Amino acid sequence: MQPTARVRRCDRSPIRVLFDLAQRTDGDLVRLEVGEPDFDTPAHVKEAAVAAIERGETNYTSNAGLPALRTAIADTLAREYGHSYGAGDVLVTTGGMEALHLACLSVLEPGDDLLIPSPGWPNYWTQAQLADATPVEVPMAFPYDLDADRVIDRMGPDTGAVMLCSPSNPTGRVFTDETVAGVIEAAREHDAYVIADEVYAALTYDRDPTGMATLVDDSEHVITIGSCSKAYAMTGWRVGWLATESSVVDETTKIRESTTASTPTPSQHAAIAALEGPQAPVREMQTAFRERRDYVTDRLAEMDGVKASRSQGAFYAFLDPEGYDDSTALAKALVTEAGVVFAPGAGFGDAGEGKLRLSYANSLDRLETGLDRLDAYL
Ligand code: PLP
Repeated sequence: MQPTARVRRCDRSPIRVLFDLAQRTDGDLVRLEVGEPDFDTPAHVKEAAVAAIERGETNYTSNAGLPALRTAIADTLAREYGHSYGAGDVLVTTGGMEALHLACLSVLEPGDDLLIPSPGWPNYWTQAQLADATPVEVPMAFPYDLDADRVIDRMGPDTGAVMLCSPSNPTGRVFTDETVAGVIEAAREHDAYVIADEVYAALTYDRDPTGMATLVDDSEHVITIGSCSKAYAMTGWRVGWLATESSVVDETTKIRESTTASTPTPSQHAAIAALEGPQAPVREMQTAFRERRDYVTDRLAEMDGVKASRSQGAFYAFLDPEGYDDSTALAKALVTEAGVVFAPGAGFGDAGEGKLRLSYANSLDRLETGLDRLDAYL
């Protein structure tokens, strides 16, 4: 017996392969492949979860999430990014991951294309495949900004949705308002959705973030994805959301009854505290990430034989060590011979092959050691 073709056609990510290799490798490894903040969840957030448990709030909530959390998400989206969603336009999910999965199930018909500007986050390919849709990579050129014309040229009758991720994992680029608006408008003309992945929106370093759906007058076909994971150092709490027109939220809530049903209740209380409580911890993390971004950018610019695009958000830099075509082989050699771990670019689509993703969710000290090792190896 075998699992279904649907499951079999999903690839194992090369990033996972490197992660496993790093786990098995002894010695002092500098882990620069990790995609999560190296900070602790703020104390008031933890306390809110403990208080909820002590009050006995440990049962299911409604499928769409606690009303107070849906309101807190809508308020945060308005306050921080200029969105105009109401609580009824928000579905609480178990991480941004579930929000993306549900969004794909809700808007992609079997056989539809999901356009993915690349380098792009590997899970988008799997999300499309799980919805029986076809992931279609649209490669972007260095420094990996969104090229609206390339995406629009690829749109056609089979386009079900376009995935936009800004700030981008893996490149750290923040797309310009004009290019994003161009893609959203063209998608509407093609009756296609835009799935706007804004899980890194709180982490921009050169300009204030703007909600992608706010950039056009008619944004009914945009589904905004967000999460507490990255902004509040809450990856293990599993709280995310999708926000869009309420009728789509209502329909999607129906299928959620059969996936995770509801997000863990103590985590939902923690998320309310994160979103409504003091935002100073977010600003502190953002300041630390900016300092590391500056350090990493300067170091990479000085390195011979390395071309890197300037990271403007999230906590990633994408680098092109010239002369290497096999990023998985290079990343493995860096683990075993140099003691530093990067995510191989091949995991982010064909446009990423030969390149490496560096995560600066690590201390300045460790970043310095890791970059010294990379420089010496190259
Ligand atoms: N979108 C992107 C681009 C990500 O990098 C991640 C996590 O790494 C997610 C969505 C989902 O994050 P979570 O499920 O922790 O909210």
